[in-house]
Amino acid sequence: MTGEPTRIVVTGASGRMGEELIDAAGDRSDVLIVAAVSRTPGSVTAEAAVGTHLDATLADEDHVDAVVDFTAPEATAEYAAIAAEHGVAFVTGTTGLAGHEADPVTALDAASESVPVLHASNFSRGIATLRGAIREAAASLPGYDVEVTETHHDGKRDAPSGTALTLAEDIEAERSDLTERQHGREGEQPREPEEIGVHARRAGDVTGEHEVLFAGNRETVSLSHRAGDRGVFAEGALDAAVAVADREPGRYEFADLLRD
Ligand code: NAD
Repeated sequence: MTGEPTRIVVTGASGRMGEELIDAAGDRSDVLIVAAVSRTPGSVTAEAAVGTHLDATLADEDHVDAVVDFTAPEATAEYAAIAAEHGVAFVTGTTGLAGHEADPVTALDAASESVPVLHASNFSRGIATLRGAIREAAASLPGYDVEVTETHHDGKRDAPSGTALTLAEDIEAERSDLTERQHGREGEQPREPEEIGVHARRAGDVTGEHEVLFAGNRETVSLSHRAGDRGVFAEGALDAAVAVADREPGRYEFADLLRD
């Protein structure tokens, strides 16, 4: 690597993902955690300065390239606005944003007017790859019923997972593209599939598992992903922060960065 490391402030630093980010960054030379903002000061690693408020932290630090946030929807809405006020890129993996009363989706859109903003419900490269494979399967298997099943540890707040909802949306999008392409072509009337089922299981300490089952009358296809540990999400989020920190204001997609 050449050049200066991307200077990052982590929010939710005392949480499961916050701790993973700090650990992962410690092994990399392309990122530097300059501060860690937490609601429970004292529980992050000694190297990280503990801030109690993102605003004060960003005002104090000489230079910050990106805020990396894994917290809760209400915190993400507030932190996105603060990052934008300070002209700092905002990368978030918080899930359960759609429909939340704090309206974090609007807050992210507003922040993206002035800084780069990237939200991904899943920062693993494997899931990004799975999304491509699933769209292909949905295009090749019209009329097959689809069931999405996810399993996570019992501390996860939202259900179904943001990733499961994203996978279901991808399949819906592919199906409607397909319907448009088939429109007007005679003799191509695939069986109308059932509505996509999305199932959530909460058990033990499972990091994250997703399975998409395509079921036809005489065959089934199952595509799945299992995250071995949370480090995979932390690495992806840090990669995203490095990639978007210097970009123009706007919304960015994790899957697009992987292909760049
Ligand atoms: P966690 O409960 O272990 O940690 C959450 C952190 O956010 C804690 O530090 C907590 O103090 C802080 N927090 C919560 N509410 C807050 C508020 N109102 N103001 C300020 N800070 C607040 O959760 P976790 O397992 O680290 O997950 C955090 C989020 O990231 C969840 O939404 C989870 O679904 C998501 N997640 C996303 C990915 C991904 O790849 N995108 C991977 C894992 C987890």
